[in-house]
Amino acid sequence: MKLPIYMDYNATTPVDPRVLDAMLPCFSDHFGNAASRTHPYGWAAAKLAESARARIAVAIGAHPEEIVFTSGATEANNLAIKGFAHTVRDHRGHVVTCATEHKAVLDPCAALDREGFAVTILPVDSDGRLDPQRVAEALTPRTGLASIMLANNETGTLHQVATIAALCRERGVVLHCDATQAAGKVPVDVNALGVDLLSLSAHKLYGPKGVGALYVRRRTPRLHLVPILDGGGHEQGMRSGTLNVPGIVGFARALEIAIEMMPAERARLGALRDRLQDAIRSCLEAVTVNGDAAHRLPNTLNLSFAGVDGAALLVGVREAAVASGSACTSADPKPSHVLLAMGRSKALANASLRFSLGRGNTPEDIETVADAVVREVTRLRRNSPLWRR
Ligand SMILES: *Cc1c(COP(=O)(O)O)cnc(C)c1O
Repeated sequence: MKLPIYMDYNATTPVDPRVLDAMLPCFSDHFGNAASRTHPYGWAAAKLAESARARIAVAIGAHPEEIVFTSGATEANNLAIKGFAHTVRDHRGHVVTCATEHKAVLDPCAALDREGFAVTILPVDSDGRLDPQRVAEALTPRTGLASIMLANNETGTLHQVATIAALCRERGVVLHCDATQAAGKVPVDVNALGVDLLSLSAHKLYGPKGVGALYVRRRTPRLHLVPILDGGGHEQGMRSGTLNVPGIVGFARALEIAIEMMPAERARLGALRDRLQDAIRSCLEAVTVNGDAAHRLPNTLNLSFAGVDGAALLVGVREAAVASGSACTSADPKPSHVLLAMGRSKALANASLRFSLGRGNTPEDIETVADAVVREVTRLRRNSPLWRR
């Protein structure tokens, strides 16, 4: 067994060998610039990129011309939120989002706020779920855009995006959805969801880093986005820059494989995740599950351990590569904004671990990691002044 056991698949995933095989020729034989129209090197690259675009479109129920390639979901979210908001600022300068969104949604919304847009950040319940009624109440005749994620990256909680999309559509509000964490784990279909803009990233689904896409619904009048990058006018003027053909080809292959494997992986990882949750909770008291048990990604488990120091726990559980409920970029740990929005205290948020499972995980991994967590929490509580029971 290779230690530490990787259980941080919501942060990133390894590239599937089949994806790498599909990508390799694009670095050498087919190295052309997809925008070169004057020779076969360019034509070959364009053909590869357009085939990938068509396959990604099919995978999410879209048309090829609705796919705009980006450097990842951070860029896709920025393009969707800033790019659309800027087209409606005069008459619909109000944006609605949710407290548990990824920073790649919250920060572009904060940038709009600084520019004079009105931004409403909706609260969630203690399971991290957003009540669609809250969205309905927040929308006004001046609301132009709402941005609500499909699956939360920290807790796996799923939002009722289709219901929210219907509410937005009735009121002429464009809905953007960050589906980065959902894609490849649960079905994502832009028409079933009813969204107008949707972000994806390849590296969360066993594709390469640095490539993603924004789905932009084709409708009348055409949804227009103000580009973030000015340049050669690639991607219908929405995203200039030479196409990352190897990345795009890998992205398409990764998405196809993820969809093919989804039924089996969903069941397998769901069972492993439940086993991990039960193994830990049956041995320890005062463990809180962060997330909605009935509406959650199958691979994600976020737990808070009362009475322990999160940083010490992370160091102690050296058998596992997992994420914590705090961003320890500085000396003073910053508790997760997602867990705080769910009503957890700073101390409990800091004492949290996120286990996100993936293709490499086995039943043996679950036993090893569960044992390590139980051992360390027990040890830390024994020595902790915070833990008096
Ligand atoms: C990882 C992630 C992002 C950022 O994606 P990049 O492609 O790494 O920029 C955005 N949103 C969610 C929900 C994510 O999980």
